[in-house]
Amino acid sequence: MPGQLWTEHEIEQLRGLLAQGLSASEMQIGSRSPAAIQNKAARLDFVGDGIPRKRWTAEAESQLKRLISEGWTAARLSADPEVLAGYSRNAVQKKLGRLKLIDGGRSRRARDAVRLSATQLDRFYTFLLAHASRCTPEQIALLWNRENTPLVTRRRVVYHLQKLGVKRSWAEVMRMPFSKAKQRRVSKKALEASQKRWDEYRDYQESELRELARRRRSRTRSRGKSLAVRACRDCNRRWPAVEPFYVLYEKQTAVGRRRYLGRICRMCRNKRRRESKNLRRKGPATA
Ligand SMILES: [Zn+2]
Repeated sequence: MPGQLWTEHEIEQLRGLLAQGLSASEMQIGSRSPAAIQNKAARLDFVGDGIPRKRWTAEAESQLKRLISEGWTAARLSADPEVLAGYSRNAVQKKLGRLKLIDGGRSRRARDAVRLSATQLDRFYTFLLAHASRCTPEQIALLWNRENTPLVTRRRVVYHLQKLGVKRSWAEVMRMPFSKAKQRRVSKKALEASQKRWDEYRDYQESELRELARRRRSRTRSRGKSLAVRACRDCNRRWPAVEPFYVLYEKQTAVGRRRYLGRICRMCRNKRRRESKNLRRKGPATA
């Protein structure tokens, strides 16, 4: 059923609003709907499909950047009427391309993804069902890739296991021998890495102390004095007999508060603390 005929005045209005760069949804022409406005503009062959795209304002652009950095996708952005109203999914995607904000890795994965043909999928599903109960998704992918094409990732295995309805829970997967072996490998590696970082940190700490001692010595020497030094009872290294090379303790005695300097250097004291802490953690049996 044809609607109300467009009047000359309305057409003029449409032409003017188009010139202003408004989109159909932003136009107010009588009680015409955006779709009616869009159709009319197309029929009149004003521009392209008749409708100019909504311009990107600086505000919209910064909102887009912020939301994308928070992990929003173009699809979610265009579906939410609260944000960036008037920009279609396509518009958002194009803008992201121009702003070079496309997740390159994700696009590449999508582009390079090789679809399994019907026969391949059949074979893959048989394989999955045969291995699902004993193997982790990672292991299934490794086994499949050893003798079959196209290559699959752990992620794809998980996806298809889910489709088959045989996805294991995380806890179940973690209990599998493959996962346990991997956990052991990883935790050993992590432990070694952490040990290395601590060693490096302590080396750094010691070099800082040495530098500080050197500066103290040269300062007192320049004043014509000599700096009291003390040999550490543990390592026998000689450090200035002050903080922070030794710890200053305070003690309440009968004659009042007394302060005294520790007998072992700061590095050795830290080492002793570390060892006693490890001892407590492991228990005396393994010490
Ligand atoms: Zn020492």
